[in-house]
Amino acid sequence: TAAPLTDAEIAAAHPIAQVAADAGIDEDLLIPYGRHMAKVDVHALTAPEDGRVVLVTGISPTPAGEGKTTVTVGLADGLNLLAAQEDAPAAVAGSRTVVALREPSLGPVFGIKGGATGGGHAQVVPMEDINLHFTGDFHAITSAHNLLCALVDNHIQQGNALGIDPRSIAIKRALDMNDRSLREVVTGLGGRAQGVPREGGFEITVATETMAVFCLAADLADLKARLGRITVGQTYDGAPVTASQIGPHGAQGAMAVLLKDAIRPNLVQTLGGTPALVHGGPFANIAHGANSVIATRTARRLGEIVVTEAGFGADLGGQKFMDITSVAGGFPPAAVVVVATVRAIKLQAGVSLTDVKAGVAETAARTSRPEAEVTAEHLAALRVGTANLARHVANMRAYGAPVVVALNRFTQDTEEEVAALRAWGEEQGVPVAVADVWGGGGEGALELARVLGEHLPAPGEPQAEVTGLWTADMDVEARIQAVVRRVYRGARAEFSAAARRQLADLRDRGLDRLPVCMAKTQYSFSDDPTALNAPEGFTVQVRELSAKTGAGFVVALTGTVMTMPGLPASPAADRMDVADDGTVTGLF
Ligand code: ADP
Ligand code: MG
Repeated sequence: TAAPLTDAEIAAAHPIAQVAADAGIDEDLLIPYGRHMAKVDVHALTAPEDGRVVLVTGISPTPAGEGKTTVTVGLADGLNLLAAQEDAPAAVAGSRTVVALREPSLGPVFGIKGGATGGGHAQVVPMEDINLHFTGDFHAITSAHNLLCALVDNHIQQGNALGIDPRSIAIKRALDMNDRSLREVVTGLGGRAQGVPREGGFEITVATETMAVFCLAADLADLKARLGRITVGQTYDGAPVTASQIGPHGAQGAMAVLLKDAIRPNLVQTLGGTPALVHGGPFANIAHGANSVIATRTARRLGEIVVTEAGFGADLGGQKFMDITSVAGGFPPAAVVVVATVRAIKLQAGVSLTDVKAGVAETAARTSRPEAEVTAEHLAALRVGTANLARHVANMRAYGAPVVVALNRFTQDTEEEVAALRAWGEEQGVPVAVADVWGGGGEGALELARVLGEHLPAPGEPQAEVTGLWTADMDVEARIQAVVRRVYRGARAEFSAAARRQLADLRDRGLDRLPVCMAKTQYSFSDDPTALNAPEGFTVQVRELSAKTGAGFVVALTGTVMTMPGLPASPAADRMDVADDGTVTGLF
């Protein structure tokens, strides 16, 4: 949860026009949404696109999240503070840092995890607006996606000139909400006037292909072209049907009409006054997990350093950033930060979350008990759980860029635990920096900024070469096996009968050389959420493959992962309210 900010802290946010001016954005290019948010008309920006990209990824998380967004924001503020200091490393001195982040989804905001604007003194503001409707982008994306669904069903109803087999429709309707009852639905019931009955379903907006297309598109023209390439289903003869075939001119034009404003990135600021582009937001478990390519490319024009986050652990968002997003956007990261927390490491060692909390309470309450006893117990767990962190670090290093571990410090972490993590880093030859961004904002990130600065190339210096997992000649099956073996470190992927058929179908359609976007649980390297730490020898069950021809990748659904999440027994919504004067409580 976020430490409550004082009114003075919130009021300290600068007018967005000033943030834009400081970042070198001409006033004519700014489309303000109130005092503290704006969209940016990016195609008239002329500064070179040369900011060095720092990717923030993480350890396998607990359900609460380990603070990647929080560290991204705090680190950016820390880099901007450090840049002005006399003894700053050459890579940081005089460099302006800009943040690029995803927009929050209402699913997690009202579900378990809460908002996605950071926390404590490391937040993007205004957090309430950003976490709710913001500038309306997700509503626009949801509408555009549902428009395509409606047009396809209407095509079938109006005579089905293309001969689309209703049983083959590949797109599901969308809603930006966790709503498990909508996973499988039957539509078109009620007689001839109500459409053609068929089985369908919903997925959460952040898992839709429209969201993926939105985040990978280079500009409005590319967005439209990609929307047109979305496969909506098949004809009775088994020929693929794309959105570009629906209606006389295709569905992409009308979809793009709904997205023409949304596609412009949103400018907000961190509590430290760092410009932040917050735009697009695919989940990292069931989608590719990074903010829009347009936002990151814009940030590269505005700043000499860009700090951006990829969702969930480095096995999900990290791998996809390296092999999908940065390839599509042309921005291989210059350095990688892997965020770890003491609580996540303990969880990986098999200490349950309740145990972690109880242990903390115990340490505080039982002062009569020799401290060493409790901490020793925790230290043992900490040793074991670093195996998970070590694997994520090794995986990211294998891509080629330098890797730094950020220990996101929580108030309950003991000095011994922090020291143990530092010792682990020394022993393993992994740079570890402790970041107290939640408590200390940018000041709390100075150590991390310095350590990162020592590994980041200076402006003009060549970046370490980043090599992806795949080569152009690898087929979808080989690409999946490469992720499973080299990133998850399992024995192999196994394909269901349906997935085998889909592999053959991809081959027939000439789509078997596309990149792959794995859909997998975030809680384990394997597809079994209960297999903690650094499991080995496991197989990953690929149950379904689906070609996202607009996004340009094939989604591989593994284990039991769902593209429409459900709400937990006690959703965050239960604790939310708005007072008569409009003050919101319970949003975090
Ligand atoms: P991630 O991006 O990795 O999913 P977030 O940055 O969104 O994680 O953080 C998850 C939650 O944990 C947020 O509510 C945030 O305020 C909180 N949090 C993050 N870091 C800390 C910290 N060091 N101390 C206390 N709470 C924190
Ligand atoms: Mg996050």
